[in-house]
Amino acid sequence: MTDFIEKELAGLAAAGLTRTLREFVPAGSALRGEFRGHRVVNFSSNSYLGLDNHPVLKKAAQDALEKWPVGASASRLITGTGPWARELEEKTATWKKREAALYFGSGYGTNTGIIAALADRDTDIFLDKLDHASIVDGAILSRAKLHRYRHNDPRDLERLLARSTAARKLVVTDTLFSMDGDIAPLEDIVGLCERYGTLLIVDEAHASGVYGATGGGLMEERGLSGKAFLEMGTFSKGLGAAGAYVAGDRATIEYLVNRARSFIFTTATPPMVCAACAAAIDVVRSEEGAQLRERLQHHIAALRAVVPAAATPIVPIVLGDIPATMARYETLLENGLLGLPVRPPTVPEGTSRLRLSLSAGHTDGEIAALIKALSAIN
Ligand SMILES: *Cc1c(COP(=O)(O)O)cnc(C)c1O
Repeated sequence: MTDFIEKELAGLAAAGLTRTLREFVPAGSALRGEFRGHRVVNFSSNSYLGLDNHPVLKKAAQDALEKWPVGASASRLITGTGPWARELEEKTATWKKREAALYFGSGYGTNTGIIAALADRDTDIFLDKLDHASIVDGAILSRAKLHRYRHNDPRDLERLLARSTAARKLVVTDTLFSMDGDIAPLEDIVGLCERYGTLLIVDEAHASGVYGATGGGLMEERGLSGKAFLEMGTFSKGLGAAGAYVAGDRATIEYLVNRARSFIFTTATPPMVCAACAAAIDVVRSEEGAQLRERLQHHIAALRAVVPAAATPIVPIVLGDIPATMARYETLLENGLLGLPVRPPTVPEGTSRLRLSLSAGHTDGEIAALIKALSAIN
């Protein structure tokens, strides 16, 4: 009865696609640590600002741990909404300049929950071909009719929108794409959604904290704050903690409290995590946050010497086939640099790559070492 499992695993092994969990032992922040017996500088984390080990976040978590229980012990709608949750959501709404916000324990759960709550069988959903898996899964859960448009192609989106006769239409896009590091044509997408009476959700998972004058994300950076129906983003990447938010108008947030199943049917996040998220907002809105964003941009500009296409903290080195990708990965590792390979099905067939991510927490010397190693293997 379980033959299918052996068969599937053998198939993965034959294709060189087996995934295994390997231990990474951080030394302080996740930006340095031990991996497969090597001491490495980590260019595979999403800690774009190096906040994961920031003293202000740690102190906030420690203080909350002293004051409150370890676990929240109930779901949000039962007794899991402590002062820490309300404070975090108010702070998030103020930061995002929206009426209200809701915190979820993960970005994955945010997307599946909000998309499934907002779309039904009679809805047309339009997704970029490279949208994150959590967005695709939310669309599948909703039972809406799913349309995929060519990556970052507003014309293809318009072609699909123009054909739709659905009463409710929903567009969802990443703002900064996680595996390609490119940015969605946000002005065009906002314009199309206005023209075609379409709800727009933007996913700022990789841009939260990293872009915008107050770290609000790419919508803020592009002067589009408040132009999407809902903005979601994570506390787990640039903000260095865990979980995610969705921000929008008060009625919609109230609707999500009543209808987002991934919000309703799960135990509330531990107070210490919420406290760390609130502290992370303070840091990214501060002068220090602005300096970290500037430092990150400085690192990206430096990397352009060897990777001309580098434009954001996510820098893919696309090598195409799996053996070539694995060989480059091993070479970097020998040099004490961790840049993990990304293979299908995470990325399309034939586009295997090293996905490098830069952080303001990297030193100039560490960026120089990466540049040196990349010029040797290219
Ligand atoms: C990482 C990611 C998520 C999921 O967020 P988690 O907090 O890691 O669950 C959602 N959307 C995008 C675009 C992401 O990159």
